[in-house]
Amino acid sequence: MLYTIGVDIGGTKVAIGVVESTGKVIEQSVIPTDLTITPYDMISRINREVNKVIQNANIPTQHIKGIGIGAPGPLDSKKGMITCPPNLPTWRDIPIKEWVEKEFDFPVRLENDANAAALAEKWIGAGQSCNHFIYMTVSTGIGSGIICDGKLLRGRKGNAGDIGHMVVDPSFGTCTCGQKGCLEMIASGTAISREGSKITGESLSTEEVFQLYDQGHPEIVPYLDSVIKVLGVACVSLINTFDTEKIIIGGGVSKVGVALFQPIRSYVQSYALNPDGRTTEIVPSKLEQNSGVVGAAALWIPSVMN
Ligand SMILES: [Zn+2]
Repeated sequence: MLYTIGVDIGGTKVAIGVVESTGKVIEQSVIPTDLTITPYDMISRINREVNKVIQNANIPTQHIKGIGIGAPGPLDSKKGMITCPPNLPTWRDIPIKEWVEKEFDFPVRLENDANAAALAEKWIGAGQSCNHFIYMTVSTGIGSGIICDGKLLRGRKGNAGDIGHMVVDPSFGTCTCGQKGCLEMIASGTAISREGSKITGESLSTEEVFQLYDQGHPEIVPYLDSVIKVLGVACVSLINTFDTEKIIIGGGVSKVGVALFQPIRSYVQSYALNPDGRTTEIVPSKLEQNSGVVGAAALWIPSVMN
């Protein structure tokens, strides 16, 4: 059996796992992301934790193919560099591949976290045996990974698929990036919780806003209908642009289920330009829990990476 190490770096925590060549996580650890220490010290901490999970997994190190790292963008996956992610504000031009490779006898690859999650879907999730699909995460932010002709679409430096700042409806107001009407400022979990709280005058989580929607709250229903429609608009634009056969939606907001998926499906069935596009499947992610670690590990799986 061969193994790969998946490291998923987020703004609040880092998940590290030893993953079998079947995609099964056999050992895992999660440590908090400490932004009060230098990125170098934080990466040293990650390296120590990687060593620990390898020891706990009790596997021969010569059976480890490599370490895959998924991290928030913008980054430069070709250079193995984290460049300027908004949710790791002190991390600027960090040569993480080099710093991790110094500590181990195996090579390191870096990829944007949403792109890594798309690879996880391709490996063992809802994108298996599918050569044209988009994985969209709707969580505190919105991002995506695009699999086109069986391959991950990377772009110039590995940042392709950052759909959160695609403009979908300028009437919703100004985004933190300065544009009006970005997808993320309308439809992320953060946006739904913020606007739902504003409408009701109470501090509500995203789940609570959806609960009020299910209960037929007179102001939340039209508000959330307009948000879900915007997700439908985004899906149609992606389908028209990439001629995709499936859109896989993951992230916290996707857990609300039918209330979200059914209206998006019917919007796509009505408005995708190509009749084939109208049959695009809109499905939930199959591997929410471990997708970050599994996706990072997938960077070393030849059948996934082609
Ligand atoms: Zn924006």
